[in-house]
Amino acid sequence: MATSFRAGGVTEPWVVCSARPDRREVALTFDDGPSGSTEAVLDVLDAHGARGTFFVVGEWVERLPDVVRATAARGHELGNHTWTHVDGREVVDPEVWRDEIRRTSDIVEGIAGHAPRLFRPPYGAVPGRFARVAAACGLDATVLWTVTPDDWQLEIRHEQIEEEVVSSAHAGAIVLHHDGRPGDESNHGEPLAETVRALPRILERLADDGYRFVTVSELLAA
Ligand SMILES: [Zn+2]
Repeated sequence: MATSFRAGGVTEPWVVCSARPDRREVALTFDDGPSGSTEAVLDVLDAHGARGTFFVVGEWVERLPDVVRATAARGHELGNHTWTHVDGREVVDPEVWRDEIRRTSDIVEGIAGHAPRLFRPPYGAVPGRFARVAAACGLDATVLWTVTPDDWQLEIRHEQIEEEVVSSAHAGAIVLHHDGRPGDESNHGEPLAETVRALPRILERLADDGYRFVTVSELLAA
């Protein structure tokens, strides 16, 4: 995987899973928001001096713009996760992907004042093909991950989330959490309550192990 953030003159779409194994930094990322859980995630991150990266779904950005505004205002990064959480294995038309990515970048820019630099395909599906479309839409990198507790599972407990992240963390890791369930009206409630419960201990234990928590763009910066 790439180990430095390419500056300008990009000729190949760039897919990244991790970075900088020489620095004790991890990037915590949160997919599928905004939701009713997002502000609780922000509170935990802020209490620990941590910054996160939120790959947002456009149709929920439209419904919860204040949450997205707060995410940016509190110093966290916003990434693009398509408008409807489209599955690239089922919807294969790149014109549809382009429209979903552009709409999402446009609404984020309108709320946060700047467009996202990063893209993540829903389900991590067909990343190479998505990366070409994302690059054509002006995004700098397509971001996957090396660590995930699969915290989207309805039956998962916060102890399991904590153990998986702490035991798998490594320097330069990109960790995939979720802060929303975009296809579900529970997204207005607290859909990822177990993630919110797990986060304080994850942050404390990894900080005790010498880790700093940075945004993906900070992690990728040369
Ligand atoms: Zn997703």
